[in-house]
Amino acid sequence: MAETIRWNNEVPVVRQTDVLVVGGGMAGIGAAVAAARNGANTTLIEQYGALGGTGSTGLVGPFMTSFDEKGTVQIVRGVFDELVRRMAKTGGAVHPSQVPPGTPYSSFTVYAHGNVTPYDPEALKLVADEMIEEAGIHLMYHTFMADVLKEGDGVRGVIVVNKSGMQAIRAKVVVDCTGDGDVAYLAGVPMAKGRPSDGKMQPMSMFFRVGGIDDAALVEYRRQHPTERNLFATPIAEAKAKGDPLNVPRDNLGLYQTMRPGEYRANASRLLGYDSTDVDSLTQAEIEGRKQVQELMRFFHKYCPGMQNAYLVDTGAHVGVRESRRIVGEYVLRVEDVVEATEFPDVIAMNGFFIDIHNPEGVGKAEPPGVRAANAYEIPYRSLVPLKVDQLLAAGRCLSADHVAFGAVRVMPPACATGEAAGTAAALAVKHGVTPRRVPVDELQQTLLAQGAYLGARFATPQAPEPPVPGR
Ligand SMILES: Cc1cc2nc3c(=O)[nH]c(=O)nc-3n(C[C@H](O)[C@H](O)[C@H](O)COP(=O)(O)OP(=O)(O)OC[C@H]3O[C@@H](n4cnc5c(N)ncnc54)[C@H](O)[C@@H]3O)c2cc1C
Repeated sequence: MAETIRWNNEVPVVRQTDVLVVGGGMAGIGAAVAAARNGANTTLIEQYGALGGTGSTGLVGPFMTSFDEKGTVQIVRGVFDELVRRMAKTGGAVHPSQVPPGTPYSSFTVYAHGNVTPYDPEALKLVADEMIEEAGIHLMYHTFMADVLKEGDGVRGVIVVNKSGMQAIRAKVVVDCTGDGDVAYLAGVPMAKGRPSDGKMQPMSMFFRVGGIDDAALVEYRRQHPTERNLFATPIAEAKAKGDPLNVPRDNLGLYQTMRPGEYRANASRLLGYDSTDVDSLTQAEIEGRKQVQELMRFFHKYCPGMQNAYLVDTGAHVGVRESRRIVGEYVLRVEDVVEATEFPDVIAMNGFFIDIHNPEGVGKAEPPGVRAANAYEIPYRSLVPLKVDQLLAAGRCLSADHVAFGAVRVMPPACATGEAAGTAAALAVKHGVTPRRVPVDELQQTLLAQGAYLGARFATPQAPEPPVPGR
């Protein structure tokens, strides 16, 4: 057993807040904005110096569909749609209603790749900062949540570390938006990880941007290879046959056009067997990720039409983590719910993305054969409420779902929508002096609808207000 030491220190309590949101990715943005707009004194802490998480500092994008799979109804609205519209107004995004399937914005993919939102990560950072400021949220950047304060079964705050030292923040309700479920894990919530058979998780990828691409040549390549499910499967197979294989475990590449001509974000590396909740493993993933990017650039130059003069713009500030810990909540969203579109009395968000499981062990995908998500399906509030621990909610990548259902709900639009639901519920819990477990679901749903969320056709959806855009 590793040596341990006991260590005592006095830590200043720097804040008392109603709602503390830990993690400023898409879930954290949704949670903090919703909590503050519903009257809660709200604090948001984030370990990096910008909001957006995987979608900004991780360079991942576009936002996958916020519509139903058929592309007829926008089913993720609320804070997510406000964010997108504000980004679009400044030229930093294209609204998903304008994006058909099969375009360079969705890596020429047709199946389940309509109505994506191309955006500039800088626009996301900027608009998120503005929305947080306008809502009067106390934002603490460069602040890492290191431990949890608990009284009985309830979370009462956290210990953070930052350049000012170690600090305590007291909170009435904490919303865990860390992706990895750090707060829930430290608070003793039962957690799930990976697939049930062996715990293996979807691989990580180091996202990167590539410039200097001949857009027309890429479009022409695609026209000539209409049966390729994903881009560049043919050159990958041909190079392998020649004895010069791509030394990255991929049999196709994702290249998503950005807002700039000739520039694409690459979803092309594959980091197998790493665990983002183990610092040594995470460190090795970052290092291997950057090595894979170099190998991919070699391959692009040599084998990919239109990419002979491509250059590396940048890699993510951190590797992209598809899957790690999830809370075990009052309800574990099941693959059957995603396939059969189960109607939940406590629906708080909807999604229309397909079941997308990158193979944890090699190339290709690992969805169970024949299993297909419904056109649109619901996410219940109970999937945000952890078992055993009170005064805590979880949203985004760490919500409660089985491994296969998680493959569908893990993308950014539902991350923001579940964050918005969790933040709204946290504010209602504070207002009524109850635990999040006891929040009146009717009131939560009516509040979400009034602020522009969509909960399905059986709820009357008021016209979402046109979001305010400050003059800039
Ligand atoms: C390689 C890859 C490709 C993907 N492709 C797409 C795509 O094209 N489109 C799409 O919509 N989705 C995609 N996804 C999924 C999607 O990006 C994520 O699941 C989603 O962004 C998760 O949002 P989140 O807010 O839950 O978590 P995150 O984005 O991970 O945000 C968590 C935030 O919490 C912070 N944090 C974590 N721990 C702490 C701590 N202890 N203290 C303080 N701060 C902390 C982090 O810095 C981060 O900002 C992809 C994911 C990956 C990894």
